Formats: sequence, structure tokens, C-alpha cells
Amino acid sequence: MGFFEGVKWDLACAEAERHLTRLIQFKTVNPPGDELPAAEYLAEALRRDGLEPEIIASAPGRGNMVCRLKGTGEKPPLLLNGHLDVVPVEESQWKYPPFSATKAEGYIWGRGAVDMKHMVAMSLTVMLLAKRSGAKLKRDLIFAAVADEEAGGAMGAGFLVQNHPDKLKAEYGLGEMGGFSMTMAGQTFYPVQVAEKGICWVRLTATGEPGHGSIPNPESAPIKLACALRKLGHLKLPQHNTPVVETFLRRLSKHQPFPNSVVLKLLLKPSLSSFILEKLFPDPALATTFWAMLRNTANPTVLRAGEKTNVIPSVATAEVDGRLLPGQTKESFLAEVRAVIGDDLKIEVLNELTPTSADPNDPILDLIAQLIEKRDPGAVVIPNLVPGFTDATHYSKLGIKCFGFSPVKLNPEDNFKALFHGHNERIPITGFHFGVRLLAELVEVLAT
Ligand SMILES: [Zn+2]
Repeated sequence: MGFFEGVKWDLACAEAERHLTRLIQFKTVNPPGDELPAAEYLAEALRRDGLEPEIIASAPGRGNMVCRLKGTGEKPPLLLNGHLDVVPVEESQWKYPPFSATKAEGYIWGRGAVDMKHMVAMSLTVMLLAKRSGAKLKRDLIFAAVADEEAGGAMGAGFLVQNHPDKLKAEYGLGEMGGFSMTMAGQTFYPVQVAEKGICWVRLTATGEPGHGSIPNPESAPIKLACALRKLGHLKLPQHNTPVVETFLRRLSKHQPFPNSVVLKLLLKPSLSSFILEKLFPDPALATTFWAMLRNTANPTVLRAGEKTNVIPSVATAEVDGRLLPGQTKESFLAEVRAVIGDDLKIEVLNELTPTSADPNDPILDLIAQLIEKRDPGAVVIPNLVPGFTDATHYSKLGIKCFGFSPVKLNPEDNFKALFHGHNERIPITGFHFGVRLLAELVEVLAT
């Protein structure tokens, strides 16, 4: 018997929908973020039901909200996390105004609908339902709604982890990014984020003789830099199979018809994976995503050299966005980059974040699979590695096992990747209701 037994789900989902609508209407575009009013809105809603939320501002206007519902302490706490900030919009490209939270065509439209105010609204609802049930939870339930994720989290989860670790420490953390349904060859999957890549941003510097633009110089700084970048763009760094991606590909292939069933498994063979991704994969976007899951990557992003057209500069630099697989280090990554570009250029590290990974065989994934089997029979849960980074990078420093699970049942025609940061971000209303219940059920089984 769970403590959500008597919940009237249609009312609970309608309540969650109202909160989501209101949350989208707070314009929390980062920069500047300005998350405080949204954090206060949540605190207000929690207080109305007798909970005791705290607002922790990391800077003026940068509000974080943390709220704990005490349990019996028989099990360690569970953290629900969502970020309140959103990425900018190009308003003219939207079908409905991006901060209107318009309900139309079966969706709620707005920036933050899936990234990730829906999780904030769902977590709020679960907290309220748990409190109203009066049940004795075996774990403390912690709800954090944080600022600044889209800019790295220094003002949000990072700030909280550094300054208020005791308010957050938990066994499990549920947040970005996963629990969205995805259909491949007629089979529905629910990827759950188990791991995310780290970063190693570097600056490459090439030097050469300066000179007049009228005299050719094949050894000039700009040309040396360009040659190095060309190699980085065309030669892939070595493949590293991580436990998460092995499980991901094996499970995916097991539930796919031929030839997908064979091709997906062969991606684990470094001698074949490049050929498969380049020649056999029908969808180039999917191919590059798989590439990022199997290898460290190094993408040149910022280039600088020269001031005048007729002067050959003596220095040319490129900033490179390096991404590291779990198990990789700054040193191993730099060695791979050196092997590609040679010894000529100077490499400086600008910024680094360690990759994180939970156990792809953690029992929580079986619990999630059992719950999904009940709500969406035949669907398969797969552990996933995300090429970007989320607040999990901060929380995992506290030893929290982070899983990306902010569930939504998408329609087969919804392109999940295009919704994230894209124009016309929206969430299917029935899929959102599905998510509210699924999240509540998972909290229920974890806390009973
Ligand atoms: Zn996000």
C-alpha cells in the first residue's frame, strides 16, 4: 500500500499543470537568470501546505529554493532537482509567444516546457501530495529548484553544493536529463541519464614569423593553426567503450529489428564504428550523437589572429571545446589531442569538469523499468550517457547517485532533441500528466 493510494490524479495533474503554466510565465532567461520570483512562487505554494521552504540567493535576483519533507530516516534522503533558468528565445520564430504558456493543439507551449520547468512543477506537486498524505516516508524528500544551470550552475546547484551541502546530501538525485520516451523502429525506449561527459576546454596557440601580406609564408601562425584544426575536425579521437554505453547499445540492439540489431552492437568494435557511423547510418544527427558517446571530442569554437589584412600575425589561437568520457582524465585527453595535432602548438587548459557516472546496473533502474512497464507496456528503459553536462556534475560531488529522470511521454512525432533549446518548445499535456504520476510512483516506491 503506497501513501499515494487515495490521490485523485486528475485533480493532482490539473494542479501540476497550473504550476507549470505559471512557472513558464516567469521570464528566467539566463543571462541574467532572474530566478528569484519563480523561486518565491514555489516557496509560497509549499508554505500554503505547511512545508518550510528556504530561499537561498547566490546573488541579487538569483534565487534557489530548497525544501525538505522529513521522513523517518530509515533510508537516506532522496533529492528531486530542477533548474529554473531557461535559454534565450528568438520570439519571432515562435508560433505562440514563448512566455505565454499557451495551451493549444494538445500541448503547453513555452520556453522551459521540457527544459525543465516541467520537472520543477512535477516535483512541487509530488512534495505537496506527500505532505498532504500525512504518510511517514522512510526517506527525507528534498526538493531543490535552482538557478543558473544553463550557464554551468555556479550560481545554482554549484553554489548550494559548495555552501550548503548538508541541505542537499542524499542517496539518490533525480533530475536532468532522461525519462523522455523515444521511438526507434516502432519500439519505445525511455533513456535514463546515468552518466555525463566532463569538459576540458583548451586554447591552442600557433606562433610563426610575422611579415608582410604580399610575401607567402606557408609556416605562418594562421596556417599552422588551420592545419591543426583541420586534423582535429577530420580525425576522430580514439574510441573508449564505457560500461554505460555498452549497456545502452546492447539493450537498444536487443529490441531492434534487423539490421539495426546487428549494426548497433557493432558500434562497440572500434575498428568498425567509424565506418558504420559514416556510411551506414541513415540519420547524420544520430550518427554524431553516437560518435560523442563513444569518444572524447574536441570542437574548435573561438578563433583569433591578426588585425590587418596586409600583416601576417605572429600568433594565432583557437579555443577548443573538449568533452571527456567517464573514466578519462585531462592528461589522457591532452595526450589524444597532441597525437592528432603534433607538438608544434602550445596547449593551455582553460576550464575542466570531471565526467560523472552512476552505476548503469543500479537497482533504481529496475524500479523505473517496472513502473514504466505498468504505464507503457512493452517500453524499454535504457541507461544513457549525455554528451553535455547538467547539475548532476555538482551533486555527484556530494556522493549523490544522480539519474536523469524527469519523465514525459512524448508523441512519436515529437522530436525531443529539437524541443530542447529550439523554437516552439512545448510539452504534450497528456504526456506531462503521465510524468507527474510516474515521478510520484517512483518517489512512493523509494520512500516506502
Ligand atoms: Zn536543462
